[in-house]
Amino acid sequence: MFYKEPKINVGIVDDVPTIRGRFNGHFSLKGDVLFAGPFEVKTANGDVVISGPECLELARGRKIKCVHHGKGAFTLSGVPIGIHFHWERKQEQTFHGDLILQALDNGNITAINEVGLETYLLSVISSEMNANAPQEFLKAHAIASRSWLMAMLERRKGIGQGGFPARQTTKRGGEIIRWYDREEHLLFDVCADDHCQRYQGIDTNISQAAREAISSTRGVFLLYREKICDARFHKACGGLTDNFENVWENIRVPYLRAVSDAAAAHKLIDTEDEARQWVFSRPDVYCNVGDFRFLRKILPDFDRKTENFFRWRVSYRREELEEILKEKSGIDFGVLYNLEPLKRGPSGRIIRLGIKGAKESIIVGKELEIRRWLSPSHLYSSAFVVSADRDLSGIPTRFTFHGAGWGHGVGMCQIGAAVMAAKGFTAGEILKHYFRDTEMRKLY
Ligand SMILES: [Zn+2]
Ligand SMILES: [Zn+2]
Repeated sequence: MFYKEPKINVGIVDDVPTIRGRFNGHFSLKGDVLFAGPFEVKTANGDVVISGPECLELARGRKIKCVHHGKGAFTLSGVPIGIHFHWERKQEQTFHGDLILQALDNGNITAINEVGLETYLLSVISSEMNANAPQEFLKAHAIASRSWLMAMLERRKGIGQGGFPARQTTKRGGEIIRWYDREEHLLFDVCADDHCQRYQGIDTNISQAAREAISSTRGVFLLYREKICDARFHKACGGLTDNFENVWENIRVPYLRAVSDAAAAHKLIDTEDEARQWVFSRPDVYCNVGDFRFLRKILPDFDRKTENFFRWRVSYRREELEEILKEKSGIDFGVLYNLEPLKRGPSGRIIRLGIKGAKESIIVGKELEIRRWLSPSHLYSSAFVVSADRDLSGIPTRFTFHGAGWGHGVGMCQIGAAVMAAKGFTAGEILKHYFRDTEMRKLY
């Protein structure tokens, strides 16, 4: 276990031919030479070449670490954000810490920010959480994000030596069971985009609330039996959370087990009847929030389109769903006859779904693959029941999904946690509610 703040490597710009920027303060590029001011980075003969004004060459090498002196920060222009999302754009961004420039085999460059974990988290919490969210929620989230990140880095070290695989597909006799964990990056620990956690440097409106949440929990981690917890989180559980193995690898993680998102325990889902009753009810649980003004205070990206996530409904004409299935799964089912839940987790999330068509019948899992196959983007969750309208010959004309919750449902329910904080629970109480039998400890 460590006793000082770890540093992490964040990939800022990956695989580009040139990078422009500015050292705001002194940086040593190689040896004792200090430099401040605008710079440009290109590659030549497999090396990174950094030049200053009037093309003056400052440093050259396969990998160059530009080390900050004092409170120096650096600015990069043209940093892409929201890659592959509709909000993709380029921005000028400023970072604390060191800048590592690495030449790639294809002649391009990757820029990496080596930064203290706490500085990194400050930016992440600021860009992912709304500053108006309750303070104890921001603190709980800071501890969960800090723990998740370090657990992930620990796991990454084990890859190749019997560590966790990041994804797995099992296909046998009409069954496709697939799960995805975060894809690993090779040259750095995390990227700066939504794929990992959004990190936009230090100039993007760091709120006072985020500063307080980070500084008051500095070095505090969630532990289970002396190991840092892989503290997963999701938007809204729908009333019950689910078990780790129903979403990712088939292993039992003692602190990632189903809990009721309420003070009083609700019965876990066991049968199809219970699942049906569950999605058609509006149980009194933390993430059942009727007040949308409150939600806008918590989630920066909350909009009217996402109001109905606690209980939701999606309906397709049969032909429409056949097209989506074909496009998303690559399988032509022909006329779609039936969708049958074969196995559910305790939150009601389906983990094995039978899809029966005229040409093909397949069983699909786990929850993310099911959500991916049944929507042009993703269904909110796999905790749904399906009903079909049928014509006189029994052929479906329309499929309607009634569902509960938003996200994989494992670990901390973000909306539930924010509601708990608003009700007066502390960060510690919130974390203990979602991650059972864990303890908080300050490690530096
Ligand atoms: Zn990433
Ligand atoms: Zn919840």
